[in-house]
Amino acid sequence: MPGYPETIADRVALVRDRIERAARHAGRDSASVTLVAVTKTHPPVLIEEVVAAGVVDLGENRVQEAATKVETFRQTGHAVRWHLIGHLQRNKARVAVGLFDIVHSVDSLRLAEALDRQVREAVLSAERAPDSRLPILLQINVSGEASKEGFALLGGCANKSGMEALLGAIERMVALPGLEVRGLMTIAPLVDDPELARPTFRMLRELRDELARQVPTVHWNELSMGMTDDFEVAISEGATLVRVGRALFGER
Ligand SMILES: *Cc1c(COP(=O)(O)O)cnc(C)c1O
Repeated sequence: MPGYPETIADRVALVRDRIERAARHAGRDSASVTLVAVTKTHPPVLIEEVVAAGVVDLGENRVQEAATKVETFRQTGHAVRWHLIGHLQRNKARVAVGLFDIVHSVDSLRLAEALDRQVREAVLSAERAPDSRLPILLQINVSGEASKEGFALLGGCANKSGMEALLGAIERMVALPGLEVRGLMTIAPLVDDPELARPTFRMLRELRDELARQVPTVHWNELSMGMTDDFEVAISEGATLVRVGRALFGER
């Protein structure tokens, strides 16, 4: 990209500036939008540069790959928060609970139950603080691409049978003592024009608003949506967590 900043510090500044503008344009406070730097495939030395530039939220999509990075950062004493943004297999729930501060990609009731069990075991063995809960987001597939993970809700809250199934799962998930449901996450279809992602983001926000009405005991604050190519559109539709990789680290 011509004129694209050379250093990671400058790229962080540029992305923050874009977030600020998008928020202002939408009449939102940019403090309500958290930049999650997606560090997958990148080594700790590069990740340290975004952290040095003030980024404290880091996203990884695989448990195995995250493990060494999390360990490295724990040794350096940097206070960062690790976000799991990729599909999690249930047999890795235990490791994931030990690594991540929040899981964006909870895509089934069974996975939620596995995470809850591991949180409670970690509390019992004093690896976690008593009463500590793992924050989670529910990954929703509103745009219906066959390859996309998430609770299937093609068309968003207009999908009656999908809504019924989702509400049933939510009822069970909010009762799990080791978890704290905080909101929703989605991945928009890959499109050339970011405007084409808008309907997906809007459906997720409308779903969040509907869930806030139907399940008011949960604080449905977080909307994790938007990546390098479309985060400004996502912010205009209410994103509170944007997951940005390539705009910070370059092409993978
Ligand atoms: C890789 C990834 C991102 C970041 O994508 P970029 O296009 O590099 O910004 C965001 N979310 C998820 C779930 C990812 O896997």
